[in-house]
Amino acid sequence: ADSFDEECDYLFKAVLTGDSGVGKSNLLSRFAKDEFRLDSKPTIGVEFAYRNIKVGDKLIKAQIWDTAGQERFRAITSSYYRGALGAMLVYDITRRATFENVKKWLQELRQFGSGDMVVVLVGNKTDLGHSREVSKEEGNSVAETEGLCFMETSALEKVNVEEAFMHMITKIHEITS
Ligand code: GDP
Ligand code: MG
Repeated sequence: ADSFDEECDYLFKAVLTGDSGVGKSNLLSRFAKDEFRLDSKPTIGVEFAYRNIKVGDKLIKAQIWDTAGQERFRAITSSYYRGALGAMLVYDITRRATFENVKKWLQELRQFGSGDMVVVLVGNKTDLGHSREVSKEEGNSVAETEGLCFMETSALEKVNVEEAFMHMITKIHEITS
């Protein structure tokens, strides 16, 4: 029932953003294919995945774009964000620097994305609680200040991944319908 050309009522584009190594590609593969890779390869350029989701009686095809969080990607930044209705901004709770860069990614989102984009801030890798460097409260506080939704996830243990994507997709649906 998840075939590519199934009739859908809406097609949404959403993007993943955040530093390299925070778990963007694994969050997406967990959501789209229920797969996780320990030895993940860096994303080269842009990749995307689809998943069809029922919201009420509507069938939504979510097209989610993924990229390496590297500076060399900057040349295609504007086309990456073009038309995106949602963004998942990911940091790694065990690497404080990735959290400190959230502000930088937000600037980029606001510069290249549309003003009413739904942004979900995601603190990933909660399974590594023993090496946590960013508290949940800190994540929540930045999200509140910046007007974002917030969730902590583990792509490895499958915690909150579905919820985070579904939250973004249902909010987009609310805004656009
Ligand atoms: P990306 O560069 O943001 O796309 O990050 P990747 O998805 O490639 O993940 C980077 C590394 O973190 C890989 O070794 C993954 O196996 C690992 N990783 C991703 N998500 C999690 C998670 O939730 N928990 C743990 N422990 N490792 C994770
Ligand atoms: Mg990647």
